[in-house]
Amino acid sequence: MQPKLPICYFDARTGILCGNCESRLAKGEITQADVDASKAVAHLSDRVVELQKATLKRAFETKGSYVLEFEASDVPSLRSNPLLLEELENALKGRAYVVGAGGSERRFLEDVFFPARVLTVNTVYLPDGEKKTKVIVPARRSERRIGDFDKLREAVKRARGIDLLVETEREVAASLYS
Ligand SMILES: [Zn+2]
Repeated sequence: MQPKLPICYFDARTGILCGNCESRLAKGEITQADVDASKAVAHLSDRVVELQKATLKRAFETKGSYVLEFEASDVPSLRSNPLLLEELENALKGRAYVVGAGGSERRFLEDVFFPARVLTVNTVYLPDGEKKTKVIVPARRSERRIGDFDKLREAVKRARGIDLLVETEREVAASLYS
């Protein structure tokens, strides 16, 4: 079994795009992030069995952070491997977020924050009228994953155009009682 990728599996393995993939890249049908993520997934699939059956739909990159969009039905299996994110991050040399393709904004955000829980998602308007999406996460940050809000915000903006605000339960409580 080998993963389905935005480029040919063979290209991903050799690192050299065939004429067809090269022209799709030139036309903007696929991006350099798709190519880089495909290479990482293809190589990792040798030992990360969950990736062998997975379909990578597309990838987004910003400042070295990647959002990898897989077929939504692949996500539970990918999550069952606790080392998967670390493996992807080592291969991509940056943060990696695994999300399911399609689905609601809330589902997307839950995927990005995983394994942290998303408590609430609200749309807020700043005084200047700017629209933001506010996510409240649990106060206890046992999860190393959400330690880097800036990277996560940039990745979310890139992948879905969402302007994200992140608050912890504790910050929300503090602002209520201050
Ligand atoms: Zn190709």
